[in-house]
Amino acid sequence: MTERIYSTRAYERAMNAIVVEVDRDDGRVLLDRSVFYPGGGGQPFDEGDLVIGDDRLEVVRVTQDSRGVWHWLEGALPPVGTHVNGEIDWVRRYTLMRTHTAMHALCGVVWNRFQSPVTGGNMKPGEGRLDFEIPQWDPEDREPIESELNRQLDLSRRVEVSFLDRDVADQDPSLIRTKVSLLPPSLTEVRVIDIVGLDRQADGGTHVDSTGEVGSIRIIKTESKGKGFRRIRFVLV
Ligand SMILES: [Zn+2]
Repeated sequence: MTERIYSTRAYERAMNAIVVEVDRDDGRVLLDRSVFYPGGGGQPFDEGDLVIGDDRLEVVRVTQDSRGVWHWLEGALPPVGTHVNGEIDWVRRYTLMRTHTAMHALCGVVWNRFQSPVTGGNMKPGEGRLDFEIPQWDPEDREPIESELNRQLDLSRRVEVSFLDRDVADQDPSLIRTKVSLLPPSLTEVRVIDIVGLDRQADGGTHVDSTGEVGSIRIIKTESKGKGFRRIRFVLV
């Protein structure tokens, strides 16, 4: 299994690692440890390079399975046992961390106002969208949601990562903010992201340590996605 450095140390942008498995058919290598986020929960996988001596191999895709984190490479694959130095595109990743934390903060603000669950979401660096079930939506709601979200971010709330046993997590349905639980049955430990005092939910992604690092956001669009469903799009400013 790959040690998932990104899971507990989101600010690590490079690592030394060893190739433990090579998949020539798919052009990918499994490493013993990684800072590369493999994607999930709406957050895209990290981009970056594996450096071996003077060679720099571009990581074009990152995925995970039961064996660990796979790094998909262009060109020749290093053999098992090779020592590599991995570096992620930090500017892009840090922007994704700020975006992801802003999305959770928006979940908290919408929950506090409407008690509405999230039904979907996605992000790219600096831009996010979330879908909510909000039957009683009024166009007038947009401005107060934006200003409340910016007020919450400006409080520099701490963002904490913790791990709960699955059976403990299952007793707290509020952790699963999506309408349909996305946790696979095989999961024995649930990672929880807590924006202290605002939002707490099961999540695998990478986040900033404080909402103050997000800066402020602007809601650029709200759309109806069918009766009672609302899509909110925002950008970091
Ligand atoms: Zn998330």
